[in-house]
Amino acid sequence: MSGSIFEKIIQREIPADIVFEDETLIAFRDRSPQAPVHVLFVPKHRYDTLNDVPSTEAELLGTLMLAARNYAQSIGMAEDGYRLVMNCNRNGGQTVYHIHLHLLGGAPLTGGFA
Ligand code: 5GP
Repeated sequence: MSGSIFEKIIQREIPADIVFEDETLIAFRDRSPQAPVHVLFVPKHRYDTLNDVPSTEAELLGTLMLAARNYAQSIGMAEDGYRLVMNCNRNGGQTVYHIHLHLLGGAPLTGGFA
């Protein structure tokens, strides 16, 4: 399968505003932000959708959530609050088939998330 757009960001083949990276994941600002803070947390190992993540990878999912939590804390956004979203497949609104966790915050979030 050809590389996802997020794999191209991981490989530095296309630019992104990267805010965090370690051996497991990368985090960068969404190019079409839906909130004042909108950062995507992306595992370096690609799974197309949440449906494809084996139960043996539960730790990876926790790592994504805690990285997003830590980043929210580091920018002083945790006390006011934030939202974490992972879309899955068409009805979930997924457009990039490389799993990623959206971190949204920086203002009160009302209604749904596209
Ligand atoms: P999804 O709809 O799959 O849950 O979320 C994909 C997100 O990736 C969208 O919010 C979209 O704006 C973002 N996105 C897609 N392509 C790029 C890109 O090349 N760079 C960045 N920074 N964000 C992207």
